[in-house]
Amino acid sequence: MNRKRQDITIVGGGMVGMAQAALLAVRHPQLQLSVLEAATEAPQVPDEHYDARVVALTQASRDLLEEAGAWGEIGLRACPYTEMRVWDAEGTGSVCFNSRDVQLPNLGHIVENGVVAAALRARLEALPNVELVSGFRLESWWRDCGHWHLQPRSGRTDMPEGLEERAEVVRTRLLIGADGARSKVRDLLRIRCQDTDYHQTALVCVVRCAKPHRHTAWQRFLKTGPLAFLPLAGLGDDNHCAVVWSADEELARELVMLDDAAFALSLEKAFESALGKVEFVGDRLSFPLRARHAESYFGPGAVLVGDAAHNIHPLAGQGVNLGLQDVRVLSDEIGRALKRGLGLADPSVLARYQRRRRGDNAITLKAMSTFKSLFGAGDLHWRWLRNTGLSMVDASPMLKKRIILRAMAV
Ligand SMILES: Cc1cc2nc3c(=O)[nH]c(=O)nc-3n(C[C@H](O)[C@H](O)[C@H](O)COP(=O)(O)OP(=O)(O)OC[C@H]3O[C@@H](n4cnc5c(N)ncnc54)[C@H](O)[C@@H]3O)c2cc1C
Repeated sequence: MNRKRQDITIVGGGMVGMAQAALLAVRHPQLQLSVLEAATEAPQVPDEHYDARVVALTQASRDLLEEAGAWGEIGLRACPYTEMRVWDAEGTGSVCFNSRDVQLPNLGHIVENGVVAAALRARLEALPNVELVSGFRLESWWRDCGHWHLQPRSGRTDMPEGLEERAEVVRTRLLIGADGARSKVRDLLRIRCQDTDYHQTALVCVVRCAKPHRHTAWQRFLKTGPLAFLPLAGLGDDNHCAVVWSADEELARELVMLDDAAFALSLEKAFESALGKVEFVGDRLSFPLRARHAESYFGPGAVLVGDAAHNIHPLAGQGVNLGLQDVRVLSDEIGRALKRGLGLADPSVLARYQRRRRGDNAITLKAMSTFKSLFGAGDLHWRWLRNTGLSMVDASPMLKKRIILRAMAV
């Protein structure tokens, strides 16, 4: 491993960490950056099938990935969606958002996580001022003379104490923690986290349906949690969708136990066969859902972005979009600091980033928790309220336009 000093080191090479490195590297070729990633294997894009994990990227996220030079490969496999249909399983309320409402070609893109990660990784490998280190799991650190010294977990026991281990240390002026929901950086900074269990599990898989998806993102709100069918493209037909079924724990446990045929039937029933028969179900993955929010986004010489700072319910598909907005704002603040001759890790720089992001993220977290509770409430009063609310939004072009434009800007 290269042991030179870095200006900025990003711990965590997920979508957010790699986007952060690429954007900073493109905007500031004079900076030396490194990305330390625990995984040893590079993300792969399967040629013959879809990955089960997908994200819905907004226009703002696409703009950022374009500026970072990574959109080209992503765009080849991303599925633009022009419509979003949301309806309540317990009533008649529904709303349909269409890109025509805002005179735009689409509302966003559905794309597999692996496609985004592989494109960003290829981009980082081509950037001369970025060093990408795989298999580096940050374990411990110390700070002196305004620099962090980062040390990986060592699996080796044959080294003279301290010698080679210290040789692997990375030294950096600013540390960016992009190491996901269970962030080690957050722990090492002793930043506390508000942590709420949603008591739901998200089951994700790819399905093929009898009817084409019509480039529409579908979401049905069941009392036990939202069920989304998100359109996929890039492998030849319009019948594949990525399913994200967020279900109360008890139901999720039952669904996990079902074989593929029984699961397909449950899925079809829960989705009111809106796309006809579910003909094929791919590998199923499950994720326990929690809301987390770091009480502070920074400590001395270090700052958090993406899931390391906040985790939200996937019902509005905003997690990575919020993370990419963190990336944009932190990059803007670093650019501003460089122009003004401030240190990269100057507390005023990190505090400005926090001021611009934490409030916005808190609002989205709160909104997701409210949605989850509102749609989980079974009594008549709440059912009436949400069905009326959906129908009112559907009947108001002005309100729809405002909602779409706000969602696309995240
Ligand atoms: C079911 C589901 C559906 C979702 N759908 C959407 C959607 O439609 N739209 C959307 O915007 N978001 C969605 N999300 C959220 C989105 O997936 C996350 O917000 C996003 O993946 C977070 O990216 P990240 O890079 O911050 O973190 P991660 O993807 O968790 O990446 C963290 C990286 O850090 C590495 N790492 C961890 N610890 C260390 C360490 N100590 N040292 C070095 N490296 C380390 C990990 O190996 C990993 O590569 C969904 C989430 C779920 C669960």
